[in-house]
Amino acid sequence: MVLQSELYDITVVGAGPVGLYAAYYSGLRECKTKLIELYPQVGGRLISMYPEKEIFDVAGYRRIVAADLISELSGQAMQYDPAVVLNERIANLRVLDERLIELTSDTGAMHYTQAVVLTVGAGAAIPRKLDVPNLISLEGNGIHYFLPAFEPMRGRKVLIVGGGNSAVDWAMALENVAAEVTLLNRSYTWTAHEAMVDKLLQSRVQVKYPYYGIKAVLGEDHVTGAVIWNEKSGLEETIAVDEIVLSIGMLTNIEPIRQWGLEIKGGGIAVNTDMSTNLPGVFAAGDIVTYHGKIQLIASGAGEAATAIHSAKEFILEGELGR
Ligand SMILES: Cc1cc2nc3c(=O)[nH]c(=O)nc-3n(C[C@H](O)[C@H](O)[C@H](O)COP(=O)(O)OP(=O)(O)OC[C@H]3O[C@@H](n4cnc5c(N)ncnc54)[C@H](O)[C@@H]3O)c2cc1C
Repeated sequence: MVLQSELYDITVVGAGPVGLYAAYYSGLRECKTKLIELYPQVGGRLISMYPEKEIFDVAGYRRIVAADLISELSGQAMQYDPAVVLNERIANLRVLDERLIELTSDTGAMHYTQAVVLTVGAGAAIPRKLDVPNLISLEGNGIHYFLPAFEPMRGRKVLIVGGGNSAVDWAMALENVAAEVTLLNRSYTWTAHEAMVDKLLQSRVQVKYPYYGIKAVLGEDHVTGAVIWNEKSGLEETIAVDEIVLSIGMLTNIEPIRQWGLEIKGGGIAVNTDMSTNLPGVFAAGDIVTYHGKIQLIASGAGEAATAIHSAKEFILEGELGR
């Protein structure tokens, strides 16, 4: 028997940008809301991976530093006083009855809710690595996968590997901080936004593409250089660098979520256009979801959050009408 006082209308699991926006929207729709996050702070990837990076593609801001966006999103979310639970990883989800879902955290705490919106990001994401000599042994000594702060890069020679938004954004962010920035893109095309690529090509970043990759990392205690090559011509060159940033994507593991009975497709939770999943009362939004045309951006995640909350509210109302 669950006490009415312990039962929430909507519980949002994961307090990244999408979860924060979902919590705000849930309050706006006058739902009794709980927000649960495994880390001691909210913010998701924006805080854990790139707090100082500028973001150029969220609605309403021409540019905003990631940590500042999280501060705005938190302020927006807290307007309606959701219950906020930090330091708890939701380890299990069970649909007990119609409009009664039980969430168990790894601390043993139980949470009860009529509907859930899962905004857990891309699961336990691990940066994609490269199988090149010296790379793994120099991790932490000049090999980076994220740049939580830019100041340590001041005056350094930095090599960035990748052709996506993160690689291009890092390169632009370091243009006036590092002594030199070189960016290698192995692909013939860019996955970064076109306008950002245009800015990159006009910047003082040395861009080597297409077909440019890294063949070996040089250095004993710390990175001192890299052997780079053109995979088409086979030509190699050795360059002096102090820091190497690999920005070539993430490998995700959402196995724990699969065990909750959710349908998983291509590494994400399969959702319908209303953001419902295969489990009644369970909705999802943000990087964790997959559907035809899905893009992993804050802006699209926020739209999905609004849809998910709307659908969850409809689900709750249907239950009340049926009673
Ligand atoms: C380097 C980099 C740069 C980027 N730059 C941009 C950009 O400029 N613009 C843009 O739009 N997008 C950018 N992105 C993508 C953007 O960060 C993601 O689309 C966004 O973070 C997705 O938000 P989310 O809330 O779905 O997931 P996340 O940000 O991953 O947040 C998920 C949250 O859920 C929590 N969580 C996970 N599992 C559980 C659990 N079981 N229980 C409780 N809590 C849990 C996590 O701790 C985390 O706080 C970038 C990504 C990277 C890696």
